[in-house]
Amino acid sequence: MKAVETRNLRKVYKSGEIEVEALSEVNLDVPASDFLLVSGPSGSGKTTLLNVLGALDRPTTGTVKIFEKDISSMSDDELSDLRLRTVGFVFQAYNLIATLTAYENIEFPMVLSNMSPEKRREKVEYLLNLVDLENRAGNKPDQLSGGEQQRIAVARALSNDPKMILADEPTGNLDSRSSDRVFELLRKVNSELGVTIIAVSHDPRFLHHSKRGVVIEDGRIVHEGPSASWNDKG
Ligand code: ADP
Ligand code: MG
Repeated sequence: MKAVETRNLRKVYKSGEIEVEALSEVNLDVPASDFLLVSGPSGSGKTTLLNVLGALDRPTTGTVKIFEKDISSMSDDELSDLRLRTVGFVFQAYNLIATLTAYENIEFPMVLSNMSPEKRREKVEYLLNLVDLENRAGNKPDQLSGGEQQRIAVARALSNDPKMILADEPTGNLDSRSSDRVFELLRKVNSELGVTIIAVSHDPRFLHHSKRGVVIEDGRIVHEGPSASWNDKG
């Protein structure tokens, strides 16, 4: 089973007369349960790639399959269903809802998918335990450290049992100790729960947690390999 397959994926942004080719002929295969690290300079197309792989955006041309379903033929409703049930997102800025507690942030996607209250409670407690933040359940985001907010965001991303987590520079705002905890958590989610992880990071330490890496430059994959084989690359 493949989590992701892209063929000749191109994404062009148009603003007025100006066209930016953010992705050019990207051919990427990600097996289910892989942990892929995506790195590359700023503006190289990493966020654009994650947005397309998470069905937040459609390719301009080329095909994109997410767990063997071709997203280009899907309606908007089918795409949002895919996002809700198959993919979890983790962002650099955490993106927790400021007025909700940690508990309620994790619970929120379960409410959207009509999970029963008993099931929700059981699930939120399980996830709080998984990310080791049971003691922070009642805290709002501004009462949590950055690292704690990101671990809550990972728990929230897991709330609907996604097959894949897409993390866009998840440790970009964190110090190295907090970054390590987030890396370790993502690795645990990958190895123990079998969730496919695709993470963008500039942090070379992330390579040791991932299984494979790709480097993107100017919208193209310029390097690809098992993470152990390119310790000299960032
Ligand atoms: P990265 O995440 O690697 O920094 P992005 O995927 O954000 O790169 O951007 C890739 C290129 O596409 C950049 O040149 C950026 O300016 C451009 N771009 C990204 N989003 C948009 C948009 N919504 N409209 C126009 N251009 C965009
Ligand atoms: Mg980006």
